[in-house]
Amino acid sequence: MPATHLPSAAGSAKANPTSSSAGSANTSSADLAYLRCRELGMRLSRQRRMVLDLLWSEKAHLSARDIFEKLNTQGRNIGHTSVYQNLEALQSAGVIECLDRASGRLYGYRSDPHSHLTCVATGAIQDLDVELPADLIARIEDLTGFTIETYTLHLSGRPRAGC
Ligand SMILES: [Zn+2]
Repeated sequence: MPATHLPSAAGSAKANPTSSSAGSANTSSADLAYLRCRELGMRLSRQRRMVLDLLWSEKAHLSARDIFEKLNTQGRNIGHTSVYQNLEALQSAGVIECLDRASGRLYGYRSDPHSHLTCVATGAIQDLDVELPADLIARIEDLTGFTIETYTLHLSGRPRAGC
């Protein structure tokens, strides 16, 4: 399955980046994710905050093992099971993203629809915001009879020489 995004009514309407105008004293904006959790009635345990903070500071797509290892390298005391359970709870509530890859699940901080570019040389995945031309979407809608609401593109490639 591709990225699982819940059809969250609250999600897209409230995840408005304009609320971050109060300066950037805090480099990580896990606050937004905290807010989502509170709105959803999820408990924000110390472990859950650790997992969210790490995802927001790394801004990468990480496996449960990566997250466990990074937290423990930072001296955060958290068990593997706790990492795994928090990731599952956060992704099933739509607070974080989850990519199912052949090698296992990867988790990311963004929960809004976005596209991905995978490097075929290293396997690294980066987030991309791709906007398709309106006429292309209109053609797809004509072809399928659907109204397109969101889309996610999966691109792959390798770095060009000299870049
Ligand atoms: Zn992503």
